[in-house]
Amino acid sequence: MSGGKDIKKALDEIVDREYTFMHICGTHEAAIAKSGLRSVLPKGLKIVMGPGCPVCITPQGEIDAALELAGKDCIIATYGDLMRVPGTKGTLDSCGGDVRVVQGVHKAVDIAKETEKEVVFISVGFETTAPTVAATLLTNPPDNFSILCSHRFVPPAMKFLLEQGEASLDGFMLPGHVCVVSGYEMYEKFAVPQVVAGFEPDDILLGLYMLVKQVKEGRAEVENAYPRAVSKEGNKKAMEMLYQVFEPCDVEWRGFPVIPKSGLRLKPEFKKYDALDKFGVTIKHVEKNSACICDKVLRGIADPTDCKLFGKACTPQNPVGPCMVSHEGACRIWALYNQKK
Ligand code: SF4
Repeated sequence: MSGGKDIKKALDEIVDREYTFMHICGTHEAAIAKSGLRSVLPKGLKIVMGPGCPVCITPQGEIDAALELAGKDCIIATYGDLMRVPGTKGTLDSCGGDVRVVQGVHKAVDIAKETEKEVVFISVGFETTAPTVAATLLTNPPDNFSILCSHRFVPPAMKFLLEQGEASLDGFMLPGHVCVVSGYEMYEKFAVPQVVAGFEPDDILLGLYMLVKQVKEGRAEVENAYPRAVSKEGNKKAMEMLYQVFEPCDVEWRGFPVIPKSGLRLKPEFKKYDALDKFGVTIKHVEKNSACICDKVLRGIADPTDCKLFGKACTPQNPVGPCMVSHEGACRIWALYNQKK
């Protein structure tokens, strides 16, 4: 197949029944919505978004911890997307503390170098961002710097989704950006069709075609439709740095219970950079008590438009849940690109 039309034609010809695949990446969702891909997919072929937005899957208890740290006279440095995610008592944006938007952990360290005050970086992200944070901590930042460690690993969440089976998935489109760093060997243990895909519309169509083909041929493998960026081994150096600084731990995700080994915590030798330890803050589980169905959207069992608040009480201008706040959140993407089922 040489181009978009050929791939689309091949996909039209191969789809013979209903198929549902999940992608786990906000960038995939944005690419699908922006290009209007869902409207041209063959009848019966559905692609849903899973827990692929790192801001959205950060549970409310961790947002509350960030707010508590902001109340301890710390400078909070965070990505812009986290500013308006609601905690139990407001948002970082409205908490009245010294909260600064930064482009990355290195900028947060720069702030710490210029002040006597404590600086806490709210460190969210998957395998893509954790190595950068690890690399920064290996440079021995000043003692007034620490992180609220909210990193997550993708494969344990996939394992949970497969074990639950609630989304009736035929396979997964694996996140290209994550796989650039982690490679895709660790996904081979899952007995389900999987394809690593890139972010152009043709990349996504090709990924879907390869997924349907696997299902039809009774195969359950990991295939790579994004070889120009992803290798099976990934970026070994980045992953080595990650494991030099962090170790896996059991953590809750928004919309999910505690998933074993799905989070990262600082190793004992880096504990001085742990904001929770430093300020005696603990993360508590917070029961969901609003009409927001982000939990279901993140598990792929509801579309944003299934939420009765979508486009009414909840909009990108006045978001109710994190999926409407983050630029990688499904609700925000659907609202901005007028996406329909
Ligand atoms: Fe939550 Fe708003 Fe999405 Fe509804 S539309 S699920 S309230 S973020």
